[in-house]
Amino acid sequence: MRPAWLQGLLHTSTELRSGGFWRWLPSRCAICQSWPQAPLCDVCISRFAQPQLRCASCALPLSHSGTRCGACQKSPPPLDLCLTATTYTWPWVDLIARYKFQEQPGWAQPLASLMQSTPWAEDMLDAADWVLPIPLSAQRLAERGYNQSWLLANQLSPQKADPHLLLRTRDTASQRTLPRTERLANLVGAFAVEPLRAAQLRGKRVVLIDDVMTSGASLHTAARVLRAAGAARVSALVLARTEAGVET
Ligand SMILES: [Zn+2]
Ligand SMILES: [Zn+2]
Repeated sequence: MRPAWLQGLLHTSTELRSGGFWRWLPSRCAICQSWPQAPLCDVCISRFAQPQLRCASCALPLSHSGTRCGACQKSPPPLDLCLTATTYTWPWVDLIARYKFQEQPGWAQPLASLMQSTPWAEDMLDAADWVLPIPLSAQRLAERGYNQSWLLANQLSPQKADPHLLLRTRDTASQRTLPRTERLANLVGAFAVEPLRAAQLRGKRVVLIDDVMTSGASLHTAARVLRAAGAARVSALVLARTEAGVET
């Protein structure tokens, strides 16, 4: 009689041969390599995705008690609430690279469940009318084949997620090499609300979804566009947040 875990593995390998859903995800933890395990095991999640006290407006770690950092108190960003599941450091940098750049869209499911278990994330998603991914330009979408933020949004809230309400109107130079002020300028006019559907945003609560938040320029620019279209509340839920001063 085979033990249950071995049966499970054999079952997985049958699916693998038949090109099933799990073909791109090994039955071991991608971080600690232990198996048989989920793609992200519980031990690694509690070790590397430990919730920490963060600013409610920009999701940077707070060194004092309270809800907002000094910078956000002085100059409030256009997000009502901003949550991140993890810090953009190892092992998340590597996993996000696999998800985004190595044609492994199947990571959307385990990464979205990590976002969902972030404190306050479920309440935020429950209260939302729309869950909108930060859109990619047509050119970037054609290169990658999928929008990583849309796959996350769709996993998080299939009924409220919509990839056609917030649009990317033009391609922009890569944000990676630009300082924050130039990032904001780079994004002016880069987002728009689908003109025929603008009424669907009036008075609504929107949650923006993105994979990595660096300076917040994309989220803030998109939030301003949504508010201008009449959205009552705009919040953000991201997978990983860079630490202060770390540009990617
Ligand atoms: Zn592990
Ligand atoms: Zn802040």
